[in-house]
Amino acid sequence: MSEFSLIDRFFKSITAQYPQTRRADVALGIGDDCALLNIPAGKQLAVSTDTLISGVHFPEQTAPQDIGYKSLAVNLSDLAAMGATPAWVSLAITLPEQNEKWLQGFVSGFAELCQQYQLQLIGGDTTHGTLSITVQVFGFVDNDLALRRDQACAGDDIYVSGCIGDGALGLHHILNHQQQPESCIQHLNRPTARVELGQKLLGISRCAIDISDGLLSDVGHLTEQSQLAAVIDVSRVPLSEDLSAFYQYGIDWSAVLNGGDDYELCFTLKSDLRNQVENLQHELGLSLTRIGYIKEGSGVYCVDENGREMPIKPAGYNHFKDNL
Ligand code: ADP
Ligand code: MG
Repeated sequence: MSEFSLIDRFFKSITAQYPQTRRADVALGIGDDCALLNIPAGKQLAVSTDTLISGVHFPEQTAPQDIGYKSLAVNLSDLAAMGATPAWVSLAITLPEQNEKWLQGFVSGFAELCQQYQLQLIGGDTTHGTLSITVQVFGFVDNDLALRRDQACAGDDIYVSGCIGDGALGLHHILNHQQQPESCIQHLNRPTARVELGQKLLGISRCAIDISDGLLSDVGHLTEQSQLAAVIDVSRVPLSEDLSAFYQYGIDWSAVLNGGDDYELCFTLKSDLRNQVENLQHELGLSLTRIGYIKEGSGVYCVDENGREMPIKPAGYNHFKDNL
């Protein structure tokens, strides 16, 4: 198969095969030198790119469906963190071989999310080499309302969605050839981008980041860019039942707070808006937990439930140790 028939068969065909992904704001899609796209009036275009490399961003044995899904999900998570609504996606893929079964699997996982978010694949590039996937997503956000890392204020509460640590626990299980618990592996391979939450935070919050490299490191990016400090009450950090069961003899907080692949949102909010978070939590059926606050200064401080500082090993440590 030539490069061009491969593009037609597996990528250009997506809009025909999944008609829900065809959008009116795409004047020209796959096939020309560029796509031509119309941005709605009153909106800003939010753009983000992430590359996934086999053996680095996903274990080599990962199913192609999961690779397709994840490569889009991690990009959607960046749009979510800005409060943007997904619209278009481009895909640059480097393939080691022409494996039709693999490509079919990849496209079906990728298209699942395109359908869910009415996202149209508008172009890309196809090359030969070590497996690598670069996805670029484009979304819309109301002028000047985007959630930004540099907009935290002293006194703001800090919240996280969902649970922390499950992606890293899933990776630990895969690297140790354990298939249980399935939910953590699912979390690693098919993370849920919190797109709806990001959209609903517009006008309530000004500041958010998605947690992809570990809670402490990502809160660190937020405080650095806002030129402020954060205090995290570690006892409030939400953990799943699977993670609590894994750590029944004592939680390795360094692993939980520095592990990657959470794809939850961390956002800050004036403390007099707490009841809005309550409402949002019910509306979305998603837990939103207050884990700390922003203050003057710099750095991220972990404290226990009595406010005593906890020495947590710095980021970069991202493998779970076996429990005793
Ligand atoms: P050019 O050589 O002009 O860059 P290509 O031959 O790389 O064009 O691609 C032809 C068309 O197919 C372009 O519209 C391009 O955006 C699209 N395309 C190539 N690879 C992909 C892909 N993996 N997914 C989606 N569209 C693709
Ligand atoms: Mg090209």
